[in-house]
Amino acid sequence: MPALPARTDVLIVGAGPVGLALACALTQLGVDHVLIDRNDGPQPGTRAAGVQPATLEYLDRVGLSRELVAAGERGQGFQLHDGRRTLLRVPYDELDTPFPYVLLLSQQATEQHLARHLRQQGGRIYRGHKLLDFDKDFPGLTATVAAPDGTVHAVNARYLVGCDGVHSRVRDITGIGFPGDAPQQLYALADVRLSTPFGDDNADTTFFLSSRGVLLTSPLAGGQFRIVASAAPGSRPPTLSDVESFLAARGPEGFPRVAEVVAASTYHVQERVAQRLSEGPVFLAGDAAHTHSPAGGQGMNTGIQDAGNLAWKLHAVLTGLAPGELLDTYHRERHPVAERLVAFTSQIASLALVRGAEAGQLRNRVLAAAAQAPGATEWLAKRLAQLDIDYAPRLDSPTSSAHHVGQRVAPTLVAPHGLDWTLAVPKSSGGPDGDGQRDQLAVRVLDGLDTTLLIRPDGYLAAVDVPSDPSAVQSALGRYALGQTS
Ligand SMILES: Cc1cc2nc3c(=O)[nH]c(=O)nc-3n(C[C@H](O)[C@H](O)[C@H](O)COP(=O)(O)OP(=O)(O)OC[C@H]3O[C@@H](n4cnc5c(N)ncnc54)[C@H](O)[C@@H]3O)c2cc1C
Repeated sequence: MPALPARTDVLIVGAGPVGLALACALTQLGVDHVLIDRNDGPQPGTRAAGVQPATLEYLDRVGLSRELVAAGERGQGFQLHDGRRTLLRVPYDELDTPFPYVLLLSQQATEQHLARHLRQQGGRIYRGHKLLDFDKDFPGLTATVAAPDGTVHAVNARYLVGCDGVHSRVRDITGIGFPGDAPQQLYALADVRLSTPFGDDNADTTFFLSSRGVLLTSPLAGGQFRIVASAAPGSRPPTLSDVESFLAARGPEGFPRVAEVVAASTYHVQERVAQRLSEGPVFLAGDAAHTHSPAGGQGMNTGIQDAGNLAWKLHAVLTGLAPGELLDTYHRERHPVAERLVAFTSQIASLALVRGAEAGQLRNRVLAAAAQAPGATEWLAKRLAQLDIDYAPRLDSPTSSAHHVGQRVAPTLVAPHGLDWTLAVPKSSGGPDGDGQRDQLAVRVLDGLDTTLLIRPDGYLAAVDVPSDPSAVQSALGRYALGQTS
């Protein structure tokens, strides 16, 4: 392995899914960076099992989603069950996205694809390198890193991004608080092979709401099944007989026998959000910034989208396209997303963990009734798929226009081009007469569009009703990046 560079624009600490996604994007954008991880390879064990549509939309811009989709299974949605009875089904197939499914793929496989893509793009991971400390060193910082042979190296970086997980050293050194709770919730997870296939309708992730505790089953790639069960505090990773007991007590009748436990772990829930996602030249992303119940399969996905929000901003500031204040919008946009996420996953977990047969029956009746409310399951699908994320200044404010700044633009409406900005021009505007490319701006000419849209590299709307002349827009990109429209 080549020696660790002594100087870089961006030092990324942690090569989990979030650090890898950030490194892939920075490599694609041509931003000089160094990615270190104290481990020799991806962490083993049973972790995230699903890639949500919003993450697939982003990773498609990074050139990875087609490969991931080929490697995984397409989960069609979520179900809540009371025994065999379906209380509520949340289908994904009506979602307005090129990826209307949850991609069932293990976190390890996702990380392996990200790492391979990074290498193919010319990027590198410095494995076995541990961040020890850093000090501010205007305008950036100097970090000390222990190499695998025990030598300690200084790395001078303009920016540092802590993608170093829930026990983040970067967060501790920076002194950013991580307030929240550690509820008494422990989950046992097992990836298993079944002795016989399970039904025809097994492409959904299914929560069984039993009075004996929560049980979740989900198909995985390679013919495996994920089983998650709430467990008593202090439980060890589940054995084959533990998994069979969970299934027998809480699952549907006729669930096949378990032939093999491939991997197992336990997960102690914490619900925390970092007080700030940035402090001077230091940023936090992924589990370093937020952690919560695994209910709903949201954690890794939110982290990868943190990386998507930050990557283009670092590029814009380092290339002089936009002033440094653009980087303040990372906290402003992603912190509310993290807070909403923790509240949402906490609600799902509390619903699932209701105690007592009477309270459980009441909950089940309410859920079955809610499923009949017009738009309820569509709303839930959009939320779980993370397609409802909106960076409008007031997240919950109603809007009169079809388009507003901060809104996600579906790739089905405007096709992206990698991590370029996109200018979508109505065909009737008298502007460009066909699709094209102007520096960092992909131009799309569309029939039926009512106004000109400028879309950021992460797929959100930067400005509405901009000039249809690509040169005029390209020369004002820095202003648009900051949300200034005049
Ligand atoms: C049991 C379990 C089940 C889960 N289920 C789901 C799910 O279904 N869906 C979902 O979306 N999410 C799920 N998650 C959460 C998901 O695994 C995390 O959100 C995801 O791993 C976060 O990625 P990350 O890159 O932020 O951090 P991590 O994956 O924790 O990676 C951090 C990296 O930083 C490195 N590092 C740490 N300190 C240093 C240092 N000082 N120097 C150098 N390197 C360092 C570590 O070696 C590690 O590689 C689950 C998690 C667990 C544990």
